Amino acid sequence: MSEAVDAARTVILTVDDDPAVSRAVARDLRRRYGDRYRVVRAESGASALEALRELKLRGAHVAVLLADYRMPQMNGVEFLEEALDLFPGARRVLLTAYADTGAAIDAINVVDLDHYLLKPWAPPEEKLYPVVDDLLESWRVTDGKQAPTTKVVGHRWSARSSQIREFLARNQVPYRWYSSDEPEGARLLRAAGEDGLRLPLVVTPDGTAMVEPDEAELAARVGLSTTPAADFYDLVIVGGGPAGLGAAVYGASEGLRTVLVEREATGGQAGQSSRIENYLGFPDGVSGAQLTDRARRQATKFGAELLTARQVTALEARGAARVLRFSDGTEVSAHSVILATGVSYRQLDVPGADDLTGRGVYYGSALTEAPSCEGQDVYVVGGANSAGQAAMFLSRNARSVTLLVRGPTPAATMSHYLLQRITESPTVSVRTNTVVEAAHGTDHLEKLTLRDTGTGETETVETQWMFVFIGAAPLTDWLDGAVLRDAHGFVLTGPDLTPDGSPPDTWALDRPPYHLETSVPGVFAAGDVRAESAKRVASAVGEGAMAVMLVHRYLEQS
Ligand SMILES: Cc1cc2nc3c(=O)[nH]c(=O)nc-3n(C[C@H](O)[C@H](O)[C@H](O)COP(=O)(O)OP(=O)(O)OC[C@H]3O[C@@H](n4cnc5c(N)ncnc54)[C@H](O)[C@@H]3O)c2cc1C
Repeated sequence: MSEAVDAARTVILTVDDDPAVSRAVARDLRRRYGDRYRVVRAESGASALEALRELKLRGAHVAVLLADYRMPQMNGVEFLEEALDLFPGARRVLLTAYADTGAAIDAINVVDLDHYLLKPWAPPEEKLYPVVDDLLESWRVTDGKQAPTTKVVGHRWSARSSQIREFLARNQVPYRWYSSDEPEGARLLRAAGEDGLRLPLVVTPDGTAMVEPDEAELAARVGLSTTPAADFYDLVIVGGGPAGLGAAVYGASEGLRTVLVEREATGGQAGQSSRIENYLGFPDGVSGAQLTDRARRQATKFGAELLTARQVTALEARGAARVLRFSDGTEVSAHSVILATGVSYRQLDVPGADDLTGRGVYYGSALTEAPSCEGQDVYVVGGANSAGQAAMFLSRNARSVTLLVRGPTPAATMSHYLLQRITESPTVSVRTNTVVEAAHGTDHLEKLTLRDTGTGETETVETQWMFVFIGAAPLTDWLDGAVLRDAHGFVLTGPDLTPDGSPPDTWALDRPPYHLETSVPGVFAAGDVRAESAKRVASAVGEGAMAVMLVHRYLEQS
């Protein structure tokens, strides 16, 4: 039986078939959240769904769903799966007994579980509230927003529309998407005096309309910082992935005047991961978006400035100052610099792929595009973890997902747990010894030519969706002549600069370069961009922290 519902306040819903437990959860939730949220309680999956349908019709918002796993008729995972259709943005928690943790971990993939709580959760101050606080906060700042006000009108096969959606999503700017051929989209276009030939149209909360905006213009309009507040800092960090964010948290928390400059959206590659399972302290895994959101909040809490949509194009040493130039020619200077620019996706070099990028061919945008793949046949290219994660993520919506692997098996680097999930998934299949030879389509991707690397035979398959994850390369050409790099473009640091025991000719100091220091004193590198780095989230964060420690050492001696 569900309680009566009203739409006045955002809802936290809890469902447990044991009336005593159900009452206890609701009581604990009301005690802490009752003044701001309406806590709705149900004693079966069916009655909880009934309550959710009623809430939906009344236009209410649901922020968090807490469901018991073991319930007769409909278990917690089945309930959450159906609840997702009604309130996709609601955060999802499963209440489990210790013996059911395996089921909870499996549910992470089925319903993108945000958390599972072991019963009993007493004391709630330690076990329940921190979890719910976090989920409510992330619901508030991301897709659960009360009123998504920025509107994007575009077309599913417009490459620029796809990029803008990806940019907003990754910067956690709430927005609403309208297709140009749906009535509301057409209405917005008319209101902006547009005929739909130039897309996307972005309408900000204050009513400003922008057609095909560039990222910097859009960032400034939707309230993201794009300009440094000062001319001179103790530390400038270039790149806002895990290494850069890690450095920002440590730099700012240790009193350095710190600014981080990111060309697209904070989070870097990790921000595009649907679930990172091997990062310490997150036994249930954490999505890249959640990790990024927390890291951003942590860095700004300590006073770091985060700039988005600003690309750094040059680095120069002017006396003791380290000067960075932006693509628009303006500059920012500091005592020290941490380069944390990571790596970027390698492009698929086959006929048709370039032209169709953003119109059926995507690099790393599986998270944003996944809902559009509903009921479709999707191809994912690549044999390592990023391709495997994308395949599993896309399989929630797609009718079928085919993982195209060049070699005879997925890469040895693909995690065992992921391979197991792929093997068990009824909708994901793996096609080994296969490469893409060409992509075909006029307005958007329509077909792919695949080649069997063993037999040489080709086959043409029909699909509108291909996601490519074939490795990555550092984009460090802008550092040419500024710092030393290896043959692949990765930045050399510390011992790698002194292979024969002596530092490079340009090195003017008596001491050798510190461990993460580049060939320019006071300029450090951390994370994936560094030669010989581990290419993991944890190591990138760790190097960001360590680079800050070395910045202190450098500042003390200079
Ligand atoms: C889909 C996917 C899934 C993954 N899953 C896992 C996982 O489960 N576990 C794990 O440990 N690792 C995982 N990885 C690897 C992990 O994400 C990376 O090792 C990590 O993100 C590296 O962090 P980084 O900060 O060094 O670089 P990046 O994450 O690459 O961030 C670099 C940032 O610098 C910015 N930038 C680049 N050039 C400039 C410039 N000139 N000016 C301004 N900004 C610039 C970029 O836009 C980017 O945001 C995954 C990677 C991918 C792609």
